[in-house]
Amino acid sequence: MKPESVVSLPPAKLFIDGGFVPAQEGAEFPTYNPATEEVLARVALAGEEDVDRAVAAAQRAFAQGPWPRMNAHERGRLLWRIGDLIWAHREELARLETLDSGKPIRDSLGVDIPMVSELFHYYAGWATKIEGAVLPTKWPAFTYTVREPLGVCGAITPWNFPLLLAAWKIAPALACGNTVVHKPSESTPLTALKLAEIFQEAEAPPGIFNVVTGPGRITGAALVRHPGVTKLAFTGSTEVGRWIMREAATTLKRVTLELGGKSPNIVLADADLKRAARGAFIGIFYNQGEVCAAGSRLIVESAVHDDLMEVLIRRTERLQPGDPLDPETRMGPLANRPQLDKVEGYVRTAEKEGDRLIIGGRRPDLPRGWYYLPTIFDEVDPNHTIAREEIFGPVLAVIPVKDEEEALETANRTEYGLAAAVWTRDVKKAHRLARALQAGTIWVNTYNLYDSTMPFGGYKFSGFGRELGRHAIDQYTQVKSVWVDLT
Ligand code: NAD
Repeated sequence: MKPESVVSLPPAKLFIDGGFVPAQEGAEFPTYNPATEEVLARVALAGEEDVDRAVAAAQRAFAQGPWPRMNAHERGRLLWRIGDLIWAHREELARLETLDSGKPIRDSLGVDIPMVSELFHYYAGWATKIEGAVLPTKWPAFTYTVREPLGVCGAITPWNFPLLLAAWKIAPALACGNTVVHKPSESTPLTALKLAEIFQEAEAPPGIFNVVTGPGRITGAALVRHPGVTKLAFTGSTEVGRWIMREAATTLKRVTLELGGKSPNIVLADADLKRAARGAFIGIFYNQGEVCAAGSRLIVESAVHDDLMEVLIRRTERLQPGDPLDPETRMGPLANRPQLDKVEGYVRTAEKEGDRLIIGGRRPDLPRGWYYLPTIFDEVDPNHTIAREEIFGPVLAVIPVKDEEEALETANRTEYGLAAAVWTRDVKKAHRLARALQAGTIWVNTYNLYDSTMPFGGYKFSGFGRELGRHAIDQYTQVKSVWVDLT
């Protein structure tokens, strides 16, 4: 089936100043359908000059266009309209996301795109609620603060939740009155361009939202280095995050970094094992394991290890990867070829280090597509590679421990700190562990829940800054203190 028969593909152009324009050098690159390994579409490759044009448009829109003069109510209404249009175009956006990333359509249509729409609605409400304060200083002066936007914000995102992670940045940035230049992952650039069409349809002022497509080391790096960009919101690998932070120092950009993870999912002996097994399953296999907060280390009290594994393995046996456009499919292919190579490499390493493979560990028997079977290694030594490094695929390391204390010590023995979960019926244990676990999100008796209102971000090498909720408003504004002499 030709992709064009399922969805209309966006043009191989950049979105700058409210219009679609070719890259100046005319360069393009392909994006692939991971289910067929075929080229899905050609995309414009933005060079330094293109990024410069996009930033200049965003600067103009911030300083001169209707955007800075628009009152907060109008700004909110525009964001609400965009949320409505995303909802109206959800089928098309979901199909495009699935074709480009490989994620099952039931997830793109049931989870990703509805949440993108909800985010624009949620932050539409925030536009009118960004307030300062009147402060009781000791001086004979009227003293107050105002929160002002930062200017041009760069948004650089990965390929696992392409439009969703972009919306985490774009919606709050705009609600605060900033303008945005977005660089989606070169592996999944298409829905960002569709969002640009939606901005046109909403009659958004030109230049408030721009999209530059291209590889990280060219297009992304140009955005990171650009002196006209005031703030950079990045989601991606820890390695690139580190580079961005170093590079951003030159132009003193504010950065927020949402980076990798190796999240522990702790099952204590008193847990509801059926629910815990389901949580372990969803924790590692949702979105093919390509989730920054994936519960990739299952830390289980030995007393219930065998019972838990029995239920988990039964569930895993039933999970067969298949065509992501089929509404019944629960696991699609991995998003790109390098990711498949990475997963295969980690499984080989685990086997070499002597970890016990109990299910999966290979590609399924499908004629094409970058598929990989859900994979579980049991009794993994916590010092082994697959217990320490982020795989970002459907590979679970099960680590038995003797008690709660060892569970906590093992869980925190990681350089990452994005998320953690605890399964227990004991409310004291739940709260004790929630307090002691070093991670930005803690789930108790659940996994992978997200909401527009709940802040999300990392401890340690998982980055810093918080996205979502009111916390994002702080990250896209700066505070001005005003003193008015009253004497
Ligand atoms: P990546 O770091 O390779 O790329 C992320 C983005 O950065 C892409 O758009 C890429 O083009 C760009 N980029 C790469 N090099 C760059 C450079 N030198 N300058 C500017 N931009 C550059 O990550 P990925 O492979 O796309 O995504 C997987 C990683 O993302 C995993 O480590 C995962 O944990 C992480 N992730 C984190 C979260 C979170 O919220 N913490 C969410 C999703 C994914």
